[in-house]
Amino acid sequence: MKRILITGGAGFIGSHLCEKLLNDGNEVICIDNYFTGSKKNIVHLLDNPYFELIRHDIAHPYFIEVDYIYNLACPASPVHYQYNPIKTIKTSVMGAINMLGLAKRIKAKILQASTSEVYGDPLLHPQPEHYWGNANPIGLRSCYDEGKRCAESLFMNYQKQNNVKIKIIRIFNTYGPKMHPNDGRVVSNFIVQALKGEPITIFGDGTQTRSFQYVDDLITAMMKTMETADDFVGPINIGNPNEFSMLQLAQEVIDLTGTKSKIVYKPLSADDPLQRCPDISLAKKILDWQPKIELREGLSKTIEYFEKELINV
Ligand code: NAD
Ligand code: UDP
Repeated sequence: MKRILITGGAGFIGSHLCEKLLNDGNEVICIDNYFTGSKKNIVHLLDNPYFELIRHDIAHPYFIEVDYIYNLACPASPVHYQYNPIKTIKTSVMGAINMLGLAKRIKAKILQASTSEVYGDPLLHPQPEHYWGNANPIGLRSCYDEGKRCAESLFMNYQKQNNVKIKIIRIFNTYGPKMHPNDGRVVSNFIVQALKGEPITIFGDGTQTRSFQYVDDLITAMMKTMETADDFVGPINIGNPNEFSMLQLAQEVIDLTGTKSKIVYKPLSADDPLQRCPDISLAKKILDWQPKIELREGLSKTIEYFEKELINV
């Protein structure tokens, strides 16, 4: 049994991680400021004596004794991270400094939830970890992209300078149950729109691509990465390499829900990456991992979740 701190544990990915680590017999402490997360995601865990929930903002220091830290706190949807860009940078950068300082002091191992956004609008396809990316340092997405890039730098330097045991994973677009209905990311938007019979909003012409990973595959890879030998720090890409255009995604959602919703086209926002797909050779080699759940199956599970959610609203 390990004592594990999860920042952002009330969010979409964090709540799945809390549940899995508890089920595996660990003690879990969840820190969240509920900016985009919700108590609803973890309320079923509150009766578990090995689960603790703390309202805290990681831009401020926090002291606690744990073995592992998973640093997930940060809004991930473009709509939400652009709402207060300065706060997004503070969460990524000051949050990383605070959590790395804690890890250093208590000699905990710490994993950073980085992102495929560090590759910006990539010119190399698919993206391997050694690619430095094509990010606009002053654009709309820069609060998130550069915040996460700076956090990676902080992680590497705490490891080199202070021997902190670190792991960096670069997560590619992930979806699944417990995404907030108003999250604003494409999978939840399309499903909620389809289920409500509202127009399905494609930004741009819909030819831009993403590679969608179901959340259970990510959780397995995150936990495997944490257990790798101390000399492996990453970064390591974690994603599903099957690539789809937004038009294909919309069509899958229309087929699976049987909706009568029609597609409408809206303007594409600045710096929206045209293509994104992970090279997961390193994850296959180091973690002996590859995603198991393909888009149709994952979408069906997610649609089932939202069907229940929307009835309960
Ligand atoms: P999410 O928005 O559902 O979860 C983020 C959680 O962090 C929320 O519960 C939010 O309230 C909390 N939070 C935000 N700022 C905080 C702060 N200052 N202090 C404490 N808590 C704070 O998003 P998610 O999809 O679950 O993403 C989790 C992590 O994974 C993020 O770091 C994100 O950058 C990373 N990531 C996610 C994806 C994806 O596709 N879901 C892709 C790449 C990276
Ligand atoms: N998108 C869309 N309609 C929506 C929401 C998003 O067409 O209602 C597009 C968005 O422009 C982007 C892709 O879907 O090209 C993925 O967007 P998301 O916000 O999910 O994540 P990103 O990978 O851009 O961070």
